[in-house]
Amino acid sequence: MRMYTHAYYAYAASLSANGALSSVNSVNSVPPCLRGRYLSDNTEAQSSRRRIDQITNNIDEIAMSRVASILLGISLVAASHAEEMSFDRGPLNNVVVERDGKRLAVYGGADCEQVLITHHRRDVVWKARKALAGGAKAVAPEAERDLLEKPGEFWDAFTQNRFHDYAQQSTKILAQPLAVSRWVKEGDVVEWRGIRFDVLDTPGYTRGAVSYVATIDGKKVAFTGDLIYGDGQLIDLYSFQDAIPEANIRGYHGYGSRLAGLVTSLRKIGDQKPDVVLPARGPAINEPQAAIEKLISRVQKLYHNYLSTNALHWYFKEDRMRLCGERILGQGADVELMPYSLHEKTPDWVFEQATSRLLISEDGHGFLLDCGYQRVIDAVKKLMSMGLVKQIDGIFVTHYHDDHTDMVQAAAEEFGCPVYATKEYEDILENPAAYHMPAMTSNPIKDVKGLPSGEKMKWQEFELTFHFFPGQTFYHGAVLAKKNDERPIFFIGDAFAPSGIDDYCVLNRNLVHADGGFRLCFQKLRQLDEPFWLVNEHIPYVFAFSNDEMDYLEKRYSQRIDILRELFPWDAPNYGIDEQWAVFYPYGAETKSNAKLKLQVRVTNHSPHRRDFAIKPHLTEGMKLISYDSKIALPPGATGIMHLHVQVDSKPGNYVITSDVRSEGMEFREWVEALVTVK
Ligand SMILES: [Zn+2]
Repeated sequence: MRMYTHAYYAYAASLSANGALSSVNSVNSVPPCLRGRYLSDNTEAQSSRRRIDQITNNIDEIAMSRVASILLGISLVAASHAEEMSFDRGPLNNVVVERDGKRLAVYGGADCEQVLITHHRRDVVWKARKALAGGAKAVAPEAERDLLEKPGEFWDAFTQNRFHDYAQQSTKILAQPLAVSRWVKEGDVVEWRGIRFDVLDTPGYTRGAVSYVATIDGKKVAFTGDLIYGDGQLIDLYSFQDAIPEANIRGYHGYGSRLAGLVTSLRKIGDQKPDVVLPARGPAINEPQAAIEKLISRVQKLYHNYLSTNALHWYFKEDRMRLCGERILGQGADVELMPYSLHEKTPDWVFEQATSRLLISEDGHGFLLDCGYQRVIDAVKKLMSMGLVKQIDGIFVTHYHDDHTDMVQAAAEEFGCPVYATKEYEDILENPAAYHMPAMTSNPIKDVKGLPSGEKMKWQEFELTFHFFPGQTFYHGAVLAKKNDERPIFFIGDAFAPSGIDDYCVLNRNLVHADGGFRLCFQKLRQLDEPFWLVNEHIPYVFAFSNDEMDYLEKRYSQRIDILRELFPWDAPNYGIDEQWAVFYPYGAETKSNAKLKLQVRVTNHSPHRRDFAIKPHLTEGMKLISYDSKIALPPGATGIMHLHVQVDSKPGNYVITSDVRSEGMEFREWVEALVTVK
């Protein structure tokens, strides 16, 4: 086991103490290998494009380049393409086909007359925009037309839709529209100077992605966008979250849903028998069949493992889980589910209503856990009118999701009581608009008392212990209630169900490092040395895991982490499951025109070693950068802040600003966004 510390506790503590983090500024600049040519796009096409014959004639250079850096631009294409096609690696690969002195670029590139786009994502389309500025005509997937042509409509709606969002689709959507000349779908052919590019629908990484297959210099080449990375890997898992209509499951509950599309699309590419696959990002894939088989096997292993510990089995039952499983594992596949653990009726001192619980003391005091609905307030008032409860002494919030928080502020005002959480998620409860997370409430809670994890409170005949408990979401807590001779109850929010782990929404940030996420939750359950019950407020029972069940859950979870480690090209699996390793803070900002706006880019170093991170912001009309911290060095596990000061002279309206984020071996253009509303 690697021993490195994550500083999330310290991060949250400093947030709570100061209202903001202090920056950790790097004295070092970006690693030299990142300074090279692909940071200067204008010269990229001319100066850095390497002729394939030059490369392939030099075996040593290839071997060295593979080892030296996964980022340096290197062509690995067979020598026979040399006359016509070049492939250079970069934050987006540069693939250029030359004929008659004219150039076609796949993904994007300078000085070309045609550019082929495989999917709509902003972190990929940036380069096509440069090609268009030079007069190129773009071909793009019909199925993603709205997102390319009318992104403004998405963003205007998203200023509201980002709250109470259960769709969980990537928001790496263009800030500005792109003028595409031709829309294509499967069966279409793009003819360019005698070369025929066949279009295949290859959904997976995005819903409407296409691939292009062409024979160039006698070799069959597939241009697959981000369908596959290298030797059977993916850039991330969170982009695959989606609804499963046939099982009546919406995006929020659809862990890896589009892995089903991925498997079908990969087989479709495999059936084409390409000699080489040239992706949008990552190395050229010179053994496509082996890479495809590896990726299919990995995602099937992942999904099988996911189902085997899945909380949804409790809520959705076996048939729906089987439907989900067969989409990705194949018809009649072995779908393993954990049998329900011991569960029984909740004791009388816990009053159940919707997704809330009310602890009632012997002399009629109440302590409320969560409040998502008016009917919870009504039920408590009814208990009061019946004389069963005299007063409410406090509200503990287990996590930020709307079904647990929408009415907390109203309840606190109604009952005149304080609201508690732990420090790690105090800020998200007070400032929900500053975050972009699933199922986000739009109702801030004023003055949350953020307690240190482990803090005890004597309340009536109870001892309450408050815990940071990052299961289901990163921003999550739990409270252990002990009284007299009763079996204690650990109220663990939505983290577990009698059928396992609540991790069906990858966007919730279930981090997998040693002392975080569910692994921290397992530790906390193991540390309780007397029998106890668990309560998940969606489940009208108390339940408990046996030692064997705990062993099973932990073993499966550690297997899952091993699979994730293999699945992503990054040096820590958290990058592949945590979309929020880099974010703007606040995510949603409001300002007047002719005003200064302060923003931050927050980056978490999930790697087991120190890393330098750098950003490059992209503003929009009427905005000017006054100053910004361009880089930061972070120890393993730490989250740091880069500050931006922006002069906003824009007209009233909604604007999207973005920033590149890069570090050694990782470079993402226009990767994070903030929504700025100018009033
Ligand atoms: Zn819930």
